[in-house]
Amino acid sequence: MPGPGDLPRPADAATRRLHPLTAHGEDGRVTHDGRADAAVTPGEAPEWAQEVRAVAVLTGAGISTDSGIPDFRGPLGLWTRNPAAERLSTYQVYMTDPEVRRRAWQSRLVHPAWTAEPNAAHRALARLAGSAIDTQVITQNIDGLHQRAGTPPGRVIELHGTMLDVVCTGCGDRTAMAGALDRVRAGEPDPPCPRCGGILKSATVMFGQALFPGVFERAALAAARCDLLLAIGSTLTVQPAASLCSIATEAGAALVIVNRDPTPYDGAATAVIRDPIGEAVPQIAGRILAAGRG
Ligand code: ZN
Repeated sequence: MPGPGDLPRPADAATRRLHPLTAHGEDGRVTHDGRADAAVTPGEAPEWAQEVRAVAVLTGAGISTDSGIPDFRGPLGLWTRNPAAERLSTYQVYMTDPEVRRRAWQSRLVHPAWTAEPNAAHRALARLAGSAIDTQVITQNIDGLHQRAGTPPGRVIELHGTMLDVVCTGCGDRTAMAGALDRVRAGEPDPPCPRCGGILKSATVMFGQALFPGVFERAALAAARCDLLLAIGSTLTVQPAASLCSIATEAGAALVIVNRDPTPYDGAATAVIRDPIGEAVPQIAGRILAAGRG
C-alpha cells in the first residue's frame, strides 16, 4: 500500500472545473471537432508529430500503473476506495499526530515503488530525452521511474517531489529515504532528524503544502517553449499541473492527451488518444523521432 506521506499532491482544486474549453478556431491551429478523438493509427504520422523541436511531457499516475503502482484517482484508486487515506496525507495531520507518522513510515516500507520497474512508456520517453529533440519530462509522480528508465535527471521536473528522499521539517536537511527506512526497520517507528531532532517526512508534496520553490516555474517555462505538450496518464484535474496545458496551447503548442478517461482539456487538444499508454507512448515517441530524422 502506498504511504500516506507518499501520495501525490491533492487537490483542493481537484474537482474545480477549469475554464470553458471551447475550440480556439481563430488561427485554425487548435480545433477539437474532427480531430479530437482521432487516434494515431499505424503508418500515418500526424501533423503534430512532424518537425517537433521541443517537447514537454506531463505525466500522471496513469503512466506508472503498468509498473504496478496504483492510480490514486482511477476507478480502483486508493482514494476512491478509501477517502480517509486522503486525510492521512495532509501535512498538518502528519505534523501533529505521531500515530499518523508511524503509519506513514510503515506504508513507506512496503510502497510498491520499491519493487516497480519502468515500463515501455517510461522507456520511450527516455529515448526522446536522449535524442536531439529538446525534451522536458514534467511529472506528478514521485516514484523516480522516469530517471530509472534513463531520462537524465536534469530533464525531469518532479512537481510533487520524490519519495526517494527524506526532508526534515525543522532544519530542511535532505537525505536518502533508504537510510530512514533502515532506521524504521531497526526499531525507530518515527525516526527524528539526526541533526536537529525534527520531524522527518518524504520529500513529497502533501495536501496543505505548497510546491517546492521554483519547480512550477521550470515546468511553466518548458510548457511555454515547447512545440508539443504530451499529457500522459493524468486526469488533468490537479492544479497547478493541469494549467500547463493552457500555458502550452496559449503559447502556440499542440496539445496531445493520452489518457484512458476524458479530461477537462480534451476540447483544447489537437488529439486525444485513448489507447493503452504502454502502446500509445512508444508509438508517439517513435513517430516524433522518425519525423525528426526525416
Ligand atoms: Zn532537522
